[in-house]
Amino acid sequence: MIIAVDGPTASGKGTIARGLGKHYGLPVLDTGLLYRAVGLQARKMGLDPDDPVEAARATGFPDALLAEPELRSVACGALASRVSVHKRVRAALLERQRQFAAQPGGAILDGRDIGTVIVPDADVKLFVTASLDARAARRHAESTSRGESLTLEHVIDDLARRDERDRNRAEAPLVQAADAELIDNTDMSAAQALEAAIAIVDARMARHAAKGA
Ligand code: C5P
Repeated sequence: MIIAVDGPTASGKGTIARGLGKHYGLPVLDTGLLYRAVGLQARKMGLDPDDPVEAARATGFPDALLAEPELRSVACGALASRVSVHKRVRAALLERQRQFAAQPGGAILDGRDIGTVIVPDADVKLFVTASLDARAARRHAESTSRGESLTLEHVIDDLARRDERDRNRAEAPLVQAADAELIDNTDMSAAQALEAAIAIVDARMARHAAKGA
């Protein structure tokens, strides 16, 4: 079973993906980390994240970079959003994501274009969202607990800019796949959102099984 979980920044899609991974015993890939690693590697190498050729050179980042706590920072998220607009960068990361999806038993991937580009034939597609205010409040609390001292206004501004860039870019823009189920968790707890996701996955799998029978 392959589950695609897409949605905007700080929508709770990562929490849902990890919860589904535990529930169904499936491996989970946070694809945002790959773009964050490209952004951080570009910065470390002194490359321009807005230049397609320079940013593509950073896709050869060492795997150890994926374990760096700094990748989770708001600054790395902004860098990721800048390098991810480039076709060359997306192409370089595509195969790695498809291989993860193709492993025996299945997998869960969360990102922006999983259900539309990376695994368009995923068994289940979820599009997870929440209001800008709710997402910003969660991201602000997270960044504060990591020791970053950003104001809520800065976080709202950063999210709005990233939403705009992710939705309007030419390559693999953030968009809900036609066959994805929407989970708007603005007024839900993390546990409620996971419950809703499990109910959707179970219903989809029951439908698939009925069709195959
Ligand atoms: O999900 P996360 O906030 O870690 O993603 C960081 C950035 O990486 C996003 O704002 C987006 O621009 C980019 N990204 C992407 N495609 C993905 C995952 C992330 O373009 N599948």
